[in-house]
Amino acid sequence: MNRATVIGGGFAGVEAAWRLAREGVRTTLIEMKPLKYSPAHTMPGLAEPVCSNSLKSQRTASASGLLKAEMRLAGSLCLACADLARIPAGGALAVDRALFSRLVTERIENEPLIELVRMEALEVPKKGVCVVAAGPLASDALALSIRALCGGALSFYDAAAPIVTAESIDMSRAFPQSRYGRGEESDYINCPLNREEYERFHAALAVAEVAPLRDFDRRPSYYEGCMPVEVLAKRGSDTLRFGPMKPIGLRDPATGHRPWAVLQLRKENLEGSLYNMVGFQTNLVFSEQKRVFFMIPALSNAEFARLGVMHRNTFIDSPRLLDSGLSFRAREGLFFAGQITGVEGYMESAASGIVAGINAARLLRGETPLVFPPETMTGALCAYISDPSVKDFQPMGANFGILPPPDLPVKDKQSRYEAYARRGIEKMREVLQLANHC
Ligand SMILES: Cc1cc2nc3c(=O)[nH]c(=O)nc-3n(C[C@H](O)[C@H](O)[C@H](O)COP(=O)(O)OP(=O)(O)OC[C@H]3O[C@@H](n4cnc5c(N)ncnc54)[C@H](O)[C@@H]3O)c2cc1C
Repeated sequence: MNRATVIGGGFAGVEAAWRLAREGVRTTLIEMKPLKYSPAHTMPGLAEPVCSNSLKSQRTASASGLLKAEMRLAGSLCLACADLARIPAGGALAVDRALFSRLVTERIENEPLIELVRMEALEVPKKGVCVVAAGPLASDALALSIRALCGGALSFYDAAAPIVTAESIDMSRAFPQSRYGRGEESDYINCPLNREEYERFHAALAVAEVAPLRDFDRRPSYYEGCMPVEVLAKRGSDTLRFGPMKPIGLRDPATGHRPWAVLQLRKENLEGSLYNMVGFQTNLVFSEQKRVFFMIPALSNAEFARLGVMHRNTFIDSPRLLDSGLSFRAREGLFFAGQITGVEGYMESAASGIVAGINAARLLRGETPLVFPPETMTGALCAYISDPSVKDFQPMGANFGILPPPDLPVKDKQSRYEAYARRGIEKMREVLQLANHC
């Protein structure tokens, strides 16, 4: 029977359903919103970016740029909508979150081969072709069913950064500028701190009160790429200055010098009425967030549209459970996609949805799974998460470190990245053409 089910209408689920429909498969997409929301989701629409509105770099000679170029070749729904919901953010692809989600939802609702069902899936179906893409915050009932199927699931904590209103930023103590002059000036607002201001801020942040973690009583293990600022602050007085508050590539027009430290704010919506505190994910209690962040001079009167939060983030032990086509080894017809597989990030999740969608359709046609070449970022991510030799499995985002080295050594970093990108795009084009998935 030419039918499939996709559980979860996030980044991975919409791509899987879209792909299945493109391949002529009737697909039921099950999404629990708006009947039920995870602790991080707030919008009724599909493919909701829960935290940052940045889909990361567009430059092809960057790891995330390469992934995007490959996804465009594979007909990504999310990227088509992101292009329409785009807001300026230098070299990054940032979107108006509400508009983006609305566009994706409209496309899915208007696709005749997709039936969108708004309900909570309580368990993983026992038969039929199904892609589980319920995300890092899969509902409790479903998480329980997945846990039983997988013999346990891994968890870690992820954090979201606060958002401030544009009008509440004191622009006499901030300046618009993109790092290294890349992109439009207005994409970022920089809040500089001199040495004394920074030291006071750091000292307060390092001892500020943290909210208790609810679901687990064990010590949380954080994903390095999404480390709360207060945890970074505790690591040393300069950790922030070399991390989210790095001043490199910036010059304060008021002093003519590079500031001692900088908090960058990135436009959150098209109107530019909201700004996201870049890299400032936090789990401080709300009153402490206000007290400490008010110490940043440009934010001394800031109005917070959202304060930072932290949430459970669940992923399965993919190296032991999935193959590189994202099918569940122990049950034919079952696929996993998205953050729950241990790929990390919006675009990585979406790319894995494309892979699962293609392979679910191939299975229905009696074809062998499509394994993406390891030289592509898509293939390298799938290979990484399904590699049984990986120990202490942790989520992985796009990066050049997971690609095989170039055939001929290239010393210069920029030229090496360009070579990776050329090779990846070529391989992706070849494999999609060969397998008729263009
Ligand atoms: C707090 C937080 C902040 C994050 N910040 C970022 C960030 O800034 N940048 C970034 O790249 N990534 C971020 N991530 C990771 C982010 O979750 C992924 O990048 C991306 O959203 C994962 O896509 P997905 O499709 O796997 O899951 P999701 O996008 O979460 O989609 C899963 C969907 O499944 C639905 N669902 C869940 N259970 C059921 C059920 N039982 N039945 C039916 N539907 C169900 C949910 O409602 C949701 O719509 C963050 C994650 C969290 C938790």
